[in-house]
Amino acid sequence: ATPTAILVGTGIGAEMGLLIKGGDVLERVSTIDTVVFDKTGTLTSGYPTVTDCIPNPDVTANYSPLANFSLLQLAAAAESGSRHPLGSAINQAATQAGLLIPAGQEFYTEPGQGVSAIIEQQLVLVGTETWLKQHGIEIEPNLSQKANRLADAGKTIVYLAAGNSLLGLIAFTDSVRPDAATAVTALKRLGLRVMILTGDRQKAAVVVAEKLGIDAADILAQVQPDGKAQTVANLQSQGHRVAMIGDGINDAPALAQADVGIAMHAGTDVAIESAQIILMRDAVMDIVASIKLSRATFNKIR
Ligand code: ADP
Ligand code: MG
Repeated sequence: ATPTAILVGTGIGAEMGLLIKGGDVLERVSTIDTVVFDKTGTLTSGYPTVTDCIPNPDVTANYSPLANFSLLQLAAAAESGSRHPLGSAINQAATQAGLLIPAGQEFYTEPGQGVSAIIEQQLVLVGTETWLKQHGIEIEPNLSQKANRLADAGKTIVYLAAGNSLLGLIAFTDSVRPDAATAVTALKRLGLRVMILTGDRQKAAVVVAEKLGIDAADILAQVQPDGKAQTVANLQSQGHRVAMIGDGINDAPALAQADVGIAMHAGTDVAIESAQIILMRDAVMDIVASIKLSRATFNKIR
């Protein structure tokens, strides 16, 4: 393609809601054979809502310093600085319920795992089972059974702990983006392999995959941020040309590793910086347009 054709290509891209950071990026898009999607905030709306707050029955009601607070109050306090969709959902639920949010200190975020804060001298953790276990918190069978039932229904689960005690769990639903199924079908029709790469649990990913027609074999769940980049690198070392689409801090390393990194406009700044294409309309369907545009510009018949 001539430089003019490339300029025209990136210009058309802009009109279609695609911010393409250079002609070389547009050219690489035409070589892609595998499209890897992050789940939360990419295939799903990214606006989850809290559906269940289940206290741990094994923790006595009079668990001392924080007994005055509900699960949602503590979670909202720990998530108050969080820009993660689950953090926003927790804060929204607490605000809607008119709850007072206790003050916190030493806010900390572990990407792809959760958040922590000190509340009334207690370390409060909100996050994955794996992360809480790393902090020495046991997940009692009673609560993990409930978590499994919620997960089977496609819900995302986070656990909440204070001190050494597991206080309970919070569950969320998140709707699949309206154009996601059409986009997956169209990508497959273009001959591409479509995969899900998520930090969430397998069950939550399977529910989304089934709605979109993605094979169970093409799901990789409970993958941490560095694992996401490693997965992309593994696919590349098998000779694949990979586009990664994501929205979170946890996707940034994988977006940078991919042959083409694609970020949602509503995504976090790090994701947008690490990607070479931004979906300005947050429409996953626009990825299909970018591939067609690239193939047209660079005349790849495949
Ligand atoms: P995805 O890869 O699907 O976009 P993330 O990697 O962002 O998901 O998150 C993976 C998991 O880590 C979530 O399902 C949740 O259990 C936990 N997690 C991440 N960030 C937070 C947070 N701010 N608060 C609570 N849990 C979190
Ligand atoms: Mg995400």
